[in-house]
Amino acid sequence: SSARLTGLGTTIFAEMTALAQRTGAINLGQGFPDTDGPDEILTYAADTVRGHGHHQYAPGIGIPELRRAIAEHQHRWYDLVVDPDTEVIVSTGATEAIAASLLGLLDPGDEIVVLEPYYDSYVAMIQMAGATRVPVTLRTPDFRVPLDALRAAITPRTTAILLNSPHNPTGAVLNRGELETIASVAVAHDLVVISDEVYEHLAFDEPHVPIATLPDMRERTITISSIGKSFSLTGWKVGWATGPAELLRSVMGVKQFLSYTSGAPLQPAAAAALGADDAYFEAFRDRLRGQRDLLCDGLRDIGFEVFTPQGTYFATTDVRSLGYTDGIDFCRRLPELAGVVAVPQEVFYDDREAGRPLVRWAFCKRPDVLAEALDRLSALT
Ligand code: PMP
Ligand code: GLN
Repeated sequence: SSARLTGLGTTIFAEMTALAQRTGAINLGQGFPDTDGPDEILTYAADTVRGHGHHQYAPGIGIPELRRAIAEHQHRWYDLVVDPDTEVIVSTGATEAIAASLLGLLDPGDEIVVLEPYYDSYVAMIQMAGATRVPVTLRTPDFRVPLDALRAAITPRTTAILLNSPHNPTGAVLNRGELETIASVAVAHDLVVISDEVYEHLAFDEPHVPIATLPDMRERTITISSIGKSFSLTGWKVGWATGPAELLRSVMGVKQFLSYTSGAPLQPAAAAALGADDAYFEAFRDRLRGQRDLLCDGLRDIGFEVFTPQGTYFATTDVRSLGYTDGIDFCRRLPELAGVVAVPQEVFYDDREAGRPLVRWAFCKRPDVLAEALDRLSALT
């Protein structure tokens, strides 16, 4: 293997899903729903796939219909005006947009400030770009952004800030004050912001605010999202980046050689999905909020200290309240102890100590599955 893979190992999500499959445990590890996205979208997808016209290479930046739908989505939800021809790129999931943004914007030696715990692909792609991550650590109990630490993390080598809100794995949703401070730091130091917003429709308490909507931020922000979480279609891998044309040229510069162009057949249906009515998004969020409450209440009843998430698919617990000290050890033994799989949060931290007792549980599962998992977990006490 090349040096750029040093230390990256196998992604924790693959490891934990394999563990669940091997042991027959209920998989509350990897975040994917057990209920597929809306039937009318699946039907629309089947019809377009069965027909002709979407089986050869799509334009590198995506089919016009989907780029327009992405631009309309940004306008409808956030009042952001985005030019579908120059300010949108369709990607193979948010993952590719993240990779292409980091590879396209970072030089070896650059520093990028990242909230930790991190989504694992950030670490990998920053390393592959030859850049250095500078963590700003979110801590229990509320995972707020330590704003002084954020300011102190900036050096003359800093070129970018990588954000994720709603935040995986903590479930924190950045609030106005945090966004304003981050924006002022970005403006003062002339930094690019890469904002991963794949959970944009899963903010349960306060509405999600894209940092691109703050004053002076639109021209320095790449906003990334995908169809996966918002429509329970994680296997589709249709994602996108929006942002000023100049920044997107760098993203496209990489994307053209990573995948050249993303899968064409599902792009029309992705466009249709984005046009779903308000009732769909509301019902979806309400359903996930209900599942969050079911899981969090249940874990609390079992004796876990639970940090109720404001967004995403994931709840965090501290396993010390049940007498365990180490989340990695706890998760390795959990299939045997209780027939459930969860994800240790330590692997997402450079500050290993901060993450050691934390374990993440996915609640994007049917209520009966969550109830069964909770029933099994009650064997822990
Ligand atoms: N960012 C975050 C924070 C995620 O949780 C995920 C979901 N796995 C992704 C990016 C990747 O999204 P996609 O499946 O669209 O590539
Ligand atoms: N986003 C999901 C999670 O955090 C899935 C990640 C993955 O499989 N790469 O669990």
